[in-house]
Amino acid sequence: MSAESIIAFRADLRDFIRRELPLEIAGRVAGGMELDKSDYVRWQQILHRHGWFAGAWPVEHGGQGWDLRRQLAFLQETALNDAPMIIPYGVSMVGPVIYTFGSEAQKRQHLPGVLSSEVWWCQGYSEPGAGSDLAALRTTAVRDGDEYVVNGSKLWTTEAHWADMMHCLVRTSNTGKRQEGISFLLIDMKTPGITVRPILTIDGQHHTNEVFLDDVRVPAGNLVGSEGDGWRIAKFLLGNERVAIADTGAKLRLLARLSAMNAMVQADPTVLPMVKAQHAARLVDLTVRLDTLCALEEHCVEAWAAGSPLGSTASMLKVRGTEVLQAMSEFAVALQGAYAGVHDPADLHLPGDARINAARQASMMAHQYLYGRCWSIFGGTNEVQRNIIAAGILP
Ligand SMILES: Cc1cc2nc3c(=O)[nH]c(=O)nc-3n(C[C@H](O)[C@H](O)[C@H](O)COP(=O)(O)OP(=O)(O)OC[C@H]3O[C@@H](n4cnc5c(N)ncnc54)[C@H](O)[C@@H]3O)c2cc1C
Repeated sequence: MSAESIIAFRADLRDFIRRELPLEIAGRVAGGMELDKSDYVRWQQILHRHGWFAGAWPVEHGGQGWDLRRQLAFLQETALNDAPMIIPYGVSMVGPVIYTFGSEAQKRQHLPGVLSSEVWWCQGYSEPGAGSDLAALRTTAVRDGDEYVVNGSKLWTTEAHWADMMHCLVRTSNTGKRQEGISFLLIDMKTPGITVRPILTIDGQHHTNEVFLDDVRVPAGNLVGSEGDGWRIAKFLLGNERVAIADTGAKLRLLARLSAMNAMVQADPTVLPMVKAQHAARLVDLTVRLDTLCALEEHCVEAWAAGSPLGSTASMLKVRGTEVLQAMSEFAVALQGAYAGVHDPADLHLPGDARINAARQASMMAHQYLYGRCWSIFGGTNEVQRNIIAAGILP
């Protein structure tokens, strides 16, 4: 794919977003406010009607067959233009798993709901005692006739309270290597025996949950692949997420905001010159760090597009990306000056047309800072990513 066609694609996207993205949703994204499920569904359905929601999927399954460069351009351009992020659990995670490993019946049953966003998915991998060491998971699925009986619990399950379905790793065997006893099961969240309990994260918001499974009966037809295939499928799923891992579009948007906030501080006669100089230097430093992250991301995408294996490069993007995000969110709080301590989680749920005053802006920035801590934990902690990098490059 030529550079010219990517430039033209980006221009088409910008036009499309200007025409189609509802203003109240764009306003909430630009203001750093929380979105409801209905906002995400609305935007995803707008994209789907245009054929752009599942652009990375193969054409035969309802996608556009976009290559990695086009996928990256889509992610950056939508973020830069205040569109909501695409929630990955359906379209980027379970969808590709089902069209790659699923039976024809599973494809017919599940892919249309993912594409239309009418069926909302969550990801049930982590458990108490099985996060970084995922192979330690203990939730069991025992075959009983045409069903599996599932018992155990999942932890940190993001959006389980919105979800209709969960793609879940379960233990179907305790013999052999731990990884070989893991299977991939699709579970209807309305099944009797499932309890979802909220966990409020450090920012005071309800993003994630505990999910308890007590004698949950799941049709055996909901097993993807064969028993014991779960580990292989989970690894495929993580590799599939590589283009989104550095999330540079959202960071470029945040940098523009920090730049505007810094300009206001620089123009404020009550701020000491020394403080202004520190802020200016920090902004330059962050700009350079983000530029290098974008360059690393482009380099990785080019290499993957040319057939290079994932290796430890995705881990480098994850570590660097989260470090840059956290440094940016620290700067955002510093720019708040006297308002730096303000954080009212309720501010994030105000109506879309609420005026953003200084205190509300401080709440948004505090939210950015606090939730930013989670980024170096989920999707594999930064310490674990560093182990992967070390194993990949050290003799
Ligand atoms: C906000 C949020 C949302 C999440 N959403 C989901 C979700 O939707 N679905 C899902 O399945 N999971 C989800 N997770 C879980 C996430 O993937 C795990 O929290 C993560 O993998 C870490 O596992 P743990 O919490 O059990 O910590 P542990 O694995 O217990 O780690 C504790 C500490 O020890 C360090 N550590 C562990 N092992 C090593 C090692 N070998 N070398 C060096 N250091 C090590 C870790 O880096 C960490 O600092 C979410 C987590 C958060 C915080």
